[in-house]
Amino acid sequence: MAKKKQTVETGSISIHTENIFPIIKKWLYSDKEIFLRELVSNAVDAIHKLQHINLVEGLKIADEYTVQVKIDKEAGTLTIVDNGIGMTADEVRNYINQIAFSSAEEFLEKYKKEESDQQIIGHFGLGFYSAFMVADKVEIKTLSYQKNAKGVHWTCSGSTDYSLEEIDCKARGTEIILHLMSDEKEFLEPDRLREVLVRYCNFLPVSIKLEDDIVNDRNPLWTRSSSEVKDEEYIDFYKKLYPLADKPLFWIHLNIDYPFNLKGIVYFPKLTTEFDVSKSHIKLFCNQVFVSDNCPELIPEFLTPLQGCLDAPDLPLNVSRSYLQNEPQVRKINEVLSGRVASKIADLAKKDKAEFIRIWTDIHPFVKYGCLRDEKFYDKVKDHILFRTTDDSEHTNLEDYLARGKDKHDNIIYYASDEATQATYLKLFKSEGNEVIILDQIIDSHFISFIEMKNNDLKFQRVDADLTQNLVDDDQSTKIVEGSDQKNREEKIRDLFEKCLKENLKKEHLTIRVESLKDTSVSGMILLAEQSRRFQEMARSMGQGKLDLPDEHTMLINLANPVIKNLLSLQNDGRSEDAEVIAEQVYDLAMLSHRGFDRDQMEAFLERSNKILELLGK
Ligand code: ADP
Repeated sequence: MAKKKQTVETGSISIHTENIFPIIKKWLYSDKEIFLRELVSNAVDAIHKLQHINLVEGLKIADEYTVQVKIDKEAGTLTIVDNGIGMTADEVRNYINQIAFSSAEEFLEKYKKEESDQQIIGHFGLGFYSAFMVADKVEIKTLSYQKNAKGVHWTCSGSTDYSLEEIDCKARGTEIILHLMSDEKEFLEPDRLREVLVRYCNFLPVSIKLEDDIVNDRNPLWTRSSSEVKDEEYIDFYKKLYPLADKPLFWIHLNIDYPFNLKGIVYFPKLTTEFDVSKSHIKLFCNQVFVSDNCPELIPEFLTPLQGCLDAPDLPLNVSRSYLQNEPQVRKINEVLSGRVASKIADLAKKDKAEFIRIWTDIHPFVKYGCLRDEKFYDKVKDHILFRTTDDSEHTNLEDYLARGKDKHDNIIYYASDEATQATYLKLFKSEGNEVIILDQIIDSHFISFIEMKNNDLKFQRVDADLTQNLVDDDQSTKIVEGSDQKNREEKIRDLFEKCLKENLKKEHLTIRVESLKDTSVSGMILLAEQSRRFQEMARSMGQGKLDLPDEHTMLINLANPVIKNLLSLQNDGRSEDAEVIAEQVYDLAMLSHRGFDRDQMEAFLERSNKILELLGK
């Protein structure tokens, strides 16, 4: 170990692993700029320690505290200077020569186990020794705040040997001098340094000077009390963090000190097509030191789009991904965020409905996903879930929707999943004053099953699932033809379609239903039982099942439609074949308005259409 040679002490840095330096240089390559974060935050810590002692011991030091980053291009050195607590020779021996490697050793352990995981290496800081990623020689000149302390000069040239000597030193604090390696000279460029400092040190609580400019904002917005921050300030802060983004939809200012510490401001962004919703966008800080902007573990999955800053001082500065995954505090942060976002949504919904609807159109898939994933979240937001309706795109909650339709459809919620392909059905529902809600997101089919599970008495039914009695016009049918005659007509039409569709077109699983609809313009429509359709969709989403209609479907024929009425006259006139051609066409038209054709179906349809045109000319 240490041996005295005149006034200069030399020795070996005490570590258990011999080959730390080659590894520092080689493997930390990708994230090597973090050396600056490590050294600047050590300097800030040293200042905090002195501020504390100053207060406790009443030293009456009235210095302006700063960390300075100085460039000497000629000498090829980068120097980080602080006027903090400083170190005595013994402290250098204890903290630099020995203890500093505790995290390095931990790193090596990990490195051995997870050799392939480059990610982990970048997230493992080595504290002071990360300086050796960019420097082949590092000097420390330091003077402790303690009375009668002597200046200390420590030098190490990237091996385990160091030297330590007493020097004359007037200014209290520490100077770390890095002799940069020849291929690391980029760190002598002010622009490059500024970029790194802004990235990692932008919100440090002590002034950081690069040459003569202060580069950081010492009091970021999240350190202030939310009661004294104005909306514009939140928006300005957001703009500073994300200069190209639109105005955020809402934000939450966190200021928690119990049962753990968490400060920060998170924003729900206005999503654009370029926004990557699968990637975490939160910046994690630890006492205002930037740690990472890739910590998906901290955020509930359904809130991945959240942006902004979280300052979690209880988490270690050098967090690794595997550390975060196993840390109970991370789960707590997750829960807090989910709870606070839910409360915020409830508040917004209560405060200003118009504004809430504007936000809702952007956030609803995430809210729905949150409901599916998190029971507590669901409980908080469930009364505020909105649905867009066909009535001039109004938004409604389920309670109001059901209240409005009470006499017509008790506890049944009609919905459309595609306004274009379900247009015929929507028209029919609308003509009878039935309100339909639009559920056109992928998440919606899961979400409605979930709502049904939570509310046993509620049923969602897609507009093509079935027709309610009130769309069927009993009065009108009796008006046209009385009693048994009506029955007779129904039978005849049914027989005709049975023959055409089941025998000719081989639609064995088809059910034929003949009704008189109030809307006479529709000749026929396809209905699918809600449950079997959902089942089929689910199978399809899991990669099974064919992309066709469920085998079982219903063809509803509208006896009140003129084309259908004509079929009977054609039959009476002995033109049964023509009637069959038209019946097949009616089926295809219903199919077309339901979901479109494949190639063969389209060919048959066009061929028959031409035939019908010919018939018209006869
Ligand atoms: P860590 O900061 O994680 O403890 P470091 O290797 O970065 O590990 O530093 C080791 C120790 O050296 C620090 O805990 C501190 O006591 C001392 N130290 C480092 N830099 C400074 C500095 N600029 N001023 C005073 N003490 C320092």
